[in-house]
Amino acid sequence: MGTLLVKNIHTLVTMDGDRREIRNGAMFLRDHVIDQVGTTAELPDVADRVLDLGDRHIVLPGFVNTHHHFYQTLTRVIPAAQNCSLFHWLEALYGVWGNLTPQAIATSAQLAAAELILSGCTTASDHLYVFPNGSRLDDEIEAIEATGLRFHASRGSMSIGKSKGGLPPDEFVEASEAAILADSQRLIETYHDNRRHAMLRITLAPCSPFSVSPDLLRESAALARSHPGVRLHTHLAENHADVTYSREMFKMTPGEFAASVGWLGDDVWHAHCVKLDDDAIAEFGRTGTGVAHCPCSNMRLASGMAPIRKMLAHNVPVGLGVDGSASNDGSNLLNEARQAMLMARLREENAAAMTARQALELATIGGARVLGRDDIGAIAPGMAADFISFNLDQLALAGAHHDPVAGVVFCQVNQVDHSFIHGRHVVENGQFLPLELPHLIERHNQVARSLVDGA
Ligand code: ZN
Repeated sequence: MGTLLVKNIHTLVTMDGDRREIRNGAMFLRDHVIDQVGTTAELPDVADRVLDLGDRHIVLPGFVNTHHHFYQTLTRVIPAAQNCSLFHWLEALYGVWGNLTPQAIATSAQLAAAELILSGCTTASDHLYVFPNGSRLDDEIEAIEATGLRFHASRGSMSIGKSKGGLPPDEFVEASEAAILADSQRLIETYHDNRRHAMLRITLAPCSPFSVSPDLLRESAALARSHPGVRLHTHLAENHADVTYSREMFKMTPGEFAASVGWLGDDVWHAHCVKLDDDAIAEFGRTGTGVAHCPCSNMRLASGMAPIRKMLAHNVPVGLGVDGSASNDGSNLLNEARQAMLMARLREENAAAMTARQALELATIGGARVLGRDDIGAIAPGMAADFISFNLDQLALAGAHHDPVAGVVFCQVNQVDHSFIHGRHVVENGQFLPLELPHLIERHNQVARSLVDGA
């Protein structure tokens, strides 16, 4: 790959320890790693390739998405699930998801990745927990490689169907927890890369307390902890009904339940946590247990407003997640940062409850911390070469020159102009380079039609 100089950056937002914002900034990259950061005048002026941004772009570290279900791009705005809360929404969709195929999983993963990357995301975690018709986690892992996205693939699972007191219909759960664990082990051994700047890691992610057994959660934790860098992820305390289920089934709050199965620690992150109580927030902070905050999905399903200010005050690691596209219904991470800022203000009825820069922190270093990484989420020597740029001349930022960095969050900016992941140019002047988008969209829509018509 060689060396790359990016120069004449209007404002370079580093998100490093000092949160520097460098006027007329520049970066010197060697292969897939950032080598030097400073002003254009301070850095070398020659490289194998030079990208001159003409003093018109803001550059940020690439965003990190900490919760998604890629396959759900195929089931956006299904009429029967448009106006439901969590459990009824799931019950309206399980049947359609039962028609997924390996091809459907691969195609939807590529579509979601393209959408994420265009909205500034350079690293994403995905949570796949349904495996009908011979589908495997391998299907999305292989598909994502072509998109250039840095990927944390989560081996989800469901094993407790309706007849055993769970929520999913019996025909959609996997029959054997031993087989789930064996497949988890196979995936770790085949794909997990714990080296610095890794492009692919495996996470173990039984779907939720209402769809797997406590035993599977315990055994998954033991398996993950016997392999360095393998993290744990699930859904927790998403809404009022989720808390009621926990109290009735386990006689515990969601926080007590997580502790009882060993699911607290700095190698665990939970999605949503809208209804996490004060004791659990303190415990999450003490143990370094992370949270994937998904404000759009929480509003869409009327789950509630997560107490993010309180979590941050207790030093809980918090990142952002767009969640699956059946409950958002888009994969726009920049929009998620904007909604996180607005929701925090609304929840606290305090216009200073979250600033634009704090929302950008959640999207970058916050997400990196949740995924257990100190090699992404900031622009500094030794970090992976994952960065994005926004052109200040665009319509949405007209008049935002007083503070263009805050403008990226406050204004309705939709897409990046440039994105580099692992040193690879994946978006150039707004064009997604890795795949032909019109073909991908056409293929995706064919799959979506057959999925729903076949349900
Ligand atoms: Zn989810």
